[in-house]
Amino acid sequence: MSHSPKKTYAMTIVDLILAGDLRATARLLRDIDDELPTARNILKKLYPHTGKAHVVGFTGSPGVGKSTLVDQLTTRYRQEGLTVGILAVDPTSPFSGGAILGDRIRMQRHFLDSGVFIRSLATRGHFGGLTRSTFDMINVLDAMGKDVILVETVGVGQDEVEIAHSAHTTVLVTVPGMGDEVQAIKAGIMEIGSIFVVNKADREGSRGTVRELRNLIELGLRHSEDASWLPPILETEGVKGRGIDELHLAIRRHKEYLFANDRGQLDEVLRKRARNQLIEALKDEALKTLLQRRQARGLSLDVLIRKIIAHESDPYSLVQEMLSEELQ
Ligand code: GDP
Repeated sequence: MSHSPKKTYAMTIVDLILAGDLRATARLLRDIDDELPTARNILKKLYPHTGKAHVVGFTGSPGVGKSTLVDQLTTRYRQEGLTVGILAVDPTSPFSGGAILGDRIRMQRHFLDSGVFIRSLATRGHFGGLTRSTFDMINVLDAMGKDVILVETVGVGQDEVEIAHSAHTTVLVTVPGMGDEVQAIKAGIMEIGSIFVVNKADREGSRGTVRELRNLIELGLRHSEDASWLPPILETEGVKGRGIDELHLAIRRHKEYLFANDRGQLDEVLRKRARNQLIEALKDEALKTLLQRRQARGLSLDVLIRKIIAHESDPYSLVQEMLSEELQ
């Protein structure tokens, strides 16, 4: 049996990643970023080795202190001897590939620690796909054997809700006196929060924000079919490390709750994760395949866009035409 060079490359890189090799992992993440087809082959081979890590999402507006909390928690996990993967996802930033501000200067103290892998992700390419690449990268870190994967996402938009669904445990971070934040939480992401954190508790109004959140959670639980997990609301001071032990413990409790699995909670989380990963990969691949095939025939997207602007056609007819051309 002859081995093509591609196959050999895939085998070696898979083995290296499974063994936790940092350079091989960095290379694969770059290939995922660049959307190289070889990356997909490696992801396929890595997938059977995923499913062991505890994935914890942190979501909240820029500046609420997510990175500070993640940094503090990482220190705790390392003290316990656990390895940590960190993904900082920023849909509002056009930069990627770990170039964001020296990749989070404040995380520098973990840089020399080979038990911690840090990576920033931002919107890239013309067609988004950030949610999908976040899922891919979680799988890589999981396969590489990281015990805990901390995923930071900015804001409370649709991307974040989807990314949150890729986590087992989601921590919603806010700060005192952010009425808008609480409104946004109310508007739809409430149900994804496993743990609520009011960071910068040194500021005025922290107790009031806790009260507001408690009311919202109680209201939510009253309408929920499953009230077996009461999301804790914690006050933290990320910079000083106050409340981090409690947050660390709350995350562990939530994991224990999920994995006790006597109420089917884990099944539900796994179902949502698998569903989201499939849908995102399908959307992403289908879109790219369709557009690439058109491009190969010299049909650019710009021509279609101009037709829509000139009202010579409309988005609905064009999509229908494209699909019927491709699917017949
Ligand atoms: P992120 O954008 O959500 O990741 O927020 P960062 O972790 O970068 O924190 C934003 C700023 O808030 C930084 O200057 C932190 O030093 C500061 N910060 C973080 N936690 C606290 C806190 O508990 N109290 C105060 N006063 N500042 C904090």
